[in-house]
Amino acid sequence: MPQWPFIPGRLYSRRNDIHARYGGQEQGGISTPQSVGAVFAFTGESGLKHGYADGWQPDGSFSYCGEGRTGDMVLKRGNRAIASHASLSRDILLFETTGKGRPVRFTGQFMCAGWTDQQLPDTNGFLRKAIVFRLVPLNLAADPIVEALPEVPRTTEEFNQLRARAYAAAKAPEGVQAKDAVVASYVRSKTVRDYALARANGRCESCNEGAPFETPAGLPFLEVHHIKRLTDGGPDSPGSVAAICPNCHREAHYGASAVAINDRLLALVQAVERVTIADLPLIAKRSIH
Ligand SMILES: [Zn+2]
Ligand SMILES: [Zn+2]
Repeated sequence: MPQWPFIPGRLYSRRNDIHARYGGQEQGGISTPQSVGAVFAFTGESGLKHGYADGWQPDGSFSYCGEGRTGDMVLKRGNRAIASHASLSRDILLFETTGKGRPVRFTGQFMCAGWTDQQLPDTNGFLRKAIVFRLVPLNLAADPIVEALPEVPRTTEEFNQLRARAYAAAKAPEGVQAKDAVVASYVRSKTVRDYALARANGRCESCNEGAPFETPAGLPFLEVHHIKRLTDGGPDSPGSVAAICPNCHREAHYGASAVAINDRLLALVQAVERVTIADLPLIAKRSIH
């Protein structure tokens, strides 16, 4: 993934900073440059005139109405670029327009977690089928601190249920419709991540120190690491993920002894997974609030 030079919240000239450098259509809501792996998606006041109802949702996702001024929207061109951005190797970069001829504000990088068909008015005010994408901020998708709160089991029974679901999720077949595939994998990976966090119970599974700080929700901050993989996306399985502190996490990716650290971590986690949960000193210590 290329590093994009845009900083969330900062203003940019659509023509000079975006299209002059990367190409792509200078007009319209969704721009798909030929030579770089990006979809530039624009949202803003002008969109509302065409019946678009873009905006943040309570779960932290962003609803983004597709393109097409009149008639039913179809999954082609810009809409297809968003829906299939992952398989097309395109990053979704969202910008908010601040008025005609004025700069655009970078909102951030997103992944498409599915879409729904909604009846919304077109530019002439006629109801038509609109495609509304559910965009998840990339940092939410990758970072356990700000995403949907993890499930926190309060009893051994709840913990065992979460564990069972994590194992089931890791084995779940991929045979879901493309429309829901990303959502399904997002839910699967969340279950496995939540389980890893519950298993760690506030201590780094690598160095065994307590989490360095608490999240705004009062939960210990740990990051979930996929032990044998190069990236931390996707569901994986309970026996191959570890909840570790940010220091250990950086070292597991970038340290001189990263290979040894990962080998050790894998052995450790798999040993824990072989033990019956009743033997784990986890739940008793968890404060109930
Ligand atoms: Zn650690
Ligand atoms: Zn990692």
